[in-house]
Amino acid sequence: MNYKNFPMVPRVVFGRGSFNQLEEIISPKRLNTKAPFIYLVDDVFKGNTWLTSRIPIAYNDKLHFVSADEEPKTSQVDELVEKIILEGSERPSGIIGIGGGTILDLAKAVSIMLTNNGSAADYQGWDLVKNPAVYHVGIPTISGTGAEVSRTTVLTGPDKKLGINSDFTPFDQVVLDPELTKDVPKNQWFYTGMDCYIHCIESLNGSYINAFSQSYGEKAYSLCKEIFVEDNLSKQESQDKLMMASWHGGMSIAYSQVGVAHAMSYGLSYLLGTKHGIGNCIVFDRLEDFYPDGVKLFKEMKQKHEIELPKNICADLSEDDYNTMIDVALSLEPLWENAIGKNWKKKISREKIKALYQLM
Ligand code: NAD
Ligand code: ZN
Repeated sequence: MNYKNFPMVPRVVFGRGSFNQLEEIISPKRLNTKAPFIYLVDDVFKGNTWLTSRIPIAYNDKLHFVSADEEPKTSQVDELVEKIILEGSERPSGIIGIGGGTILDLAKAVSIMLTNNGSAADYQGWDLVKNPAVYHVGIPTISGTGAEVSRTTVLTGPDKKLGINSDFTPFDQVVLDPELTKDVPKNQWFYTGMDCYIHCIESLNGSYINAFSQSYGEKAYSLCKEIFVEDNLSKQESQDKLMMASWHGGMSIAYSQVGVAHAMSYGLSYLLGTKHGIGNCIVFDRLEDFYPDGVKLFKEMKQKHEIELPKNICADLSEDDYNTMIDVALSLEPLWENAIGKNWKKKISREKIKALYQLM
């Protein structure tokens, strides 16, 4: 057995208002006055001076608003890197991502591609990155994905949706300020929060489970229950706890793996552009056979929070479309092995996956 030796985020600050400490935190990391910090900020915050006025821009620092309407693409990473290189004379002192999983993943990928040649697409896979990334900071503004703590940055490339998984991917610094999540719309709060819940269910019920993953997964699971089922927390407590649930859920899958919902959700995302949180919900809602207890509780939470999932999203698909989604889903072999066990190929068929997609 060869156990994974994986890196963790070396520095993290937690607390409401901790975003105000950003200047103090990053100042020592400034290489010189010509080497800027580059801020990648979700464009939902454009004109939101409550947040933007606290971004400590100095010297040649730059702020780019980036849309989170679509999930990050390798071409988008390449364009951002080119822009940063062309607009500055020196390699940046750091990249700072402020937003949800979409922006956090972009920040991680850009920081890697500033020190590694070629296109981001060349590094989709496991341990292909050669040089350490530029210093990078993650500041989540919505909770659930675990992207703030993970060793991957999920990108859609010309021929696959796959992460850049490497020891250089995790953030050097994370700022967890739950107050930044206060204006997340309810549906999005549920979808991204359920990403965390589904991480827990898939990790805790998978064959890769071990005491490390279980300890984090159980904590995240019980926090999700407090937030989404019991629901007697104040708004602030709920925001604080969901931010920590996301962190623990991310830590849990770091040392285990996700499962069927994620594999099939990648298929939807690749073909239809369905975003991660809502895509996971659409798939998970149909996975009673794989995760009976987890799906039962999911349906209760959905009802309690009056969430209506989109229906019939696969209604007009061709045979080729189904095959594309099934190919993407089945290519994620470790996810199936984790969910179903070593001989998963004997237990799951293309027809079964197609039948599930047809229900969505
Ligand atoms: P997101 O970043 O896509 O954002 C969802 C929506 O919420 C956007 O419209 C965004 O503008 C809005 N939003 C974010 N913060 C807000 C705030 N404070 N107030 C109001 N609106 C706000 O959402 P997400 O679910 O966090 O991220 C999904 C992405 O994360 C996907 O691209 C997925 O692939 C990736 N992901 C990565 C990992 C990883 O380990 N790297 C894990 C899971 C998911
Ligand atoms: Zn996920």
